[in-house]
Amino acid sequence: MSKHKKINIIGAGLAGSLLSILFAKRGYKVHVYERAADMRLDEVDAGRSINLALAHRGIRALQKAEVFERIKPMMVPMAGRQLHNEDGSQQFQAYGNKRHEVIYSLSRSGLNKELMNAAEETGLVTFYFSHACMGVDTKRNKILISNSANETIELDAEHVFACDGAGSKIRRDLVAQDILSNRDELLDHAYKELTIPADDHGEYQMIREALHIWPRGQYMLIALPNDDGSFTLTLFMPKHGENGFNELTSEEKISNFFKAHFPDTLELIPNLLQEFKENPEGILGTVYTNPLHWQDKLLLVGDSSHAIVPFHGQGMNSSFEDCLVLDELLEKHTENWTQVFQQFSIQRKRDVDAIAEMALENYITMRDSVRHADFHLRKDVAWELETRFPEYFIPRYSMVMFHHIPYALVFRRGNIQADIVAELSENIKEAYECDFVKAESLIKERLEKVDSKHLAS
Ligand SMILES: Cc1cc2nc3c(=O)[nH]c(=O)nc-3n(C[C@H](O)[C@H](O)[C@H](O)COP(=O)(O)OP(=O)(O)OC[C@H]3O[C@@H](n4cnc5c(N)ncnc54)[C@H](O)[C@@H]3O)c2cc1C
Repeated sequence: MSKHKKINIIGAGLAGSLLSILFAKRGYKVHVYERAADMRLDEVDAGRSINLALAHRGIRALQKAEVFERIKPMMVPMAGRQLHNEDGSQQFQAYGNKRHEVIYSLSRSGLNKELMNAAEETGLVTFYFSHACMGVDTKRNKILISNSANETIELDAEHVFACDGAGSKIRRDLVAQDILSNRDELLDHAYKELTIPADDHGEYQMIREALHIWPRGQYMLIALPNDDGSFTLTLFMPKHGENGFNELTSEEKISNFFKAHFPDTLELIPNLLQEFKENPEGILGTVYTNPLHWQDKLLLVGDSSHAIVPFHGQGMNSSFEDCLVLDELLEKHTENWTQVFQQFSIQRKRDVDAIAEMALENYITMRDSVRHADFHLRKDVAWELETRFPEYFIPRYSMVMFHHIPYALVFRRGNIQADIVAELSENIKEAYECDFVKAESLIKERLEKVDSKHLAS
């Protein structure tokens, strides 16, 4: 039915490339307009962050697009957090209660390139690189694209998907014309990426299957493994003030800072000073947009409408989930675009607002809470409750990372669960001391059973 239909996607990043495959699978001819040159041919900066954490929601979408098997070889499992404490000790904290509950580190550019290859192999997707969207002419219903020869191409504003990332030109134009409302909240923290290379034998210099964290209260360093033996480190800290980026203005200050706070990394980062000076300071923030569409003409997918801070590792995962939800709605509403766009906007707005909030909260968990004994006690109690009452209780981190319970529901259940855990953790030192009779009554009184359709199979 949709064989001869055509759609346009703006942006060939992670969401745009995956979405193009899903549309091609529905028989659509897809044209994708990307501002950058083809990253498969040139040494193009893949954008923010070198590697990313992929979790269940992203995997489901990759499976739906039938590309997961070709991504799998690039994935490095991370079973938990490896904490590097201030006294030099280390401690491993598993992410999940079950062995298979792991997340995966993955090269952003490797993933993006593979998605583009898979899209082209469908025979229905054409990428136009070095084609930048310059804006939206809402009076004439046109999307304006500038090609590498600086010529302007006009696309009909019909079935267009804006996947042009956090700084979306399309979003900004539609906001300027009062079609969308929007709020961007920048964090007063920034980030910088550094590298721990593989050793002389190509081996990892730290435990491979973990996300390493050096939590230091107001700031933190994290490291994710790459598949070549190296780790990408990211330093997150305030932009200004004590222990802020603004203080690290000389080689001496940078060295002293690392010596004082991350001494075990000094030998591992041979190019610390050079990288620190050369690598940019990335901004962090949350984009809130409403609605997520312009009539039945254009829909915003991924970061273009809901960029979030990276502390739950869910920006890409939620963008991929957008693609999946869109695909499901196209199926459900037999491609009635008005209904699809409206439903998508209502449903996703609730969910992306919830993950935005949880991502902000998780910064405090990662940089601070993980250092404290009460965090561990509550985590142990939560795991014990999951083991004993699996139909009712799943720790919030696991609901986000290992299942596909809608984020808004995760957020609501998470708050109720946090209260239950707090109540049960009072005056105990170990999870086994919990009053499980009381636990059962609290849980069954306050929580519904989790709908099994939202659980990973
Ligand atoms: C430091 C950091 C770490 C992160 N870690 C994780 C993680 O571990 N897990 C996770 O799930 N998420 C993570 N994220 C979030 C993730 O990067 C984003 O959510 C994801 O890239 C969103 O995909 P997207 O396709 O919407 O946007 P992008 O991947 O940014 O793609 C947008 C594309 O649009 C193109 N474009 C932009 N403007 C135009 C224009 N005018 N015309 C044409 N094309 C245009 C860009 O060149 C780009 O190719 C992290 C983000 C940061 C900053």
